[in-house]
Amino acid sequence: MKALEVIDFKKSYGNYEAVKGIDFEVNRGEIFGLIGPNGAGKTTTLRTICTLIKINNGEINVYGNSVKSEAGKVREIISYLPEEAGAYKNMKGIDYLKFVANFFPLKDYNEMVKKGSEISDLGDKLNNKVESYSKGMTRRLLVARALMTDPLLAILDEPTSGLDVINAQEVRKVILNMKNSDCAVLLSSHNMLEVEYLCDRIALMDNGIIVEMGTPGELKDRYKARNIEEVFTEVIK
Ligand code: ATP
Repeated sequence: MKALEVIDFKKSYGNYEAVKGIDFEVNRGEIFGLIGPNGAGKTTTLRTICTLIKINNGEINVYGNSVKSEAGKVREIISYLPEEAGAYKNMKGIDYLKFVANFFPLKDYNEMVKKGSEISDLGDKLNNKVESYSKGMTRRLLVARALMTDPLLAILDEPTSGLDVINAQEVRKVILNMKNSDCAVLLSSHNMLEVEYLCDRIALMDNGIIVEMGTPGELKDRYKARNIEEVFTEVIK
């Protein structure tokens, strides 16, 4: 069974068609990247898969569960890291992880908090309030929150945005560890180096449609490009 199937998905906001009918699949153990210029429809697609936006047209299934008719089941097996996410500022980092862990009564609470603490790599700072965190520290806490629950499909919108080089590298390592596991990762990023490094396959969106899709190697060969940034600029002219 596919981790994710997106079939002829369309989404309009009023009269404006933000996504115009896209199809792609993500396999178990795969890291799949959605790239494209601002306004291409990436976040709309990710939010619809997460059941946060109602689907206008088409089908989206997560491990066979329809986002239309089985939204509850979908929510149980996914984890979503939004692009613009915040954690409760008055909470200590560790309390935020515990707070989130409480929402998963069927899973091992202590194991989850331990995993979250490790992924965050915030050490003693976990005992400080989130309001004292830098942007990067908050992002790491949120990445930890999203991945500590062992989702079957992790949906990460710009996972390393705002992180410095070292922090971004650490987060990438955590994501890479999910490769070839039982779960799958769908991420969007404006960082083409990151996408090339992490993703097994990439879909390039522009203006609400998928204009290219393939492995990083296939895309580079197709455009005789040295890297994915060159592919991007060649396709999005
Ligand atoms: P970015 O890289 O800038 O995050 P994106 O690829 O994630 O862009 P979306 O956020 O999905 O793009 O937006 C796609 C289009 O839909 C844009 O033209 C945007 O203005 C429009 N849009 C998004 N959300 C809404 C909304 N709630 N109401 C109206 N239009 C919207």
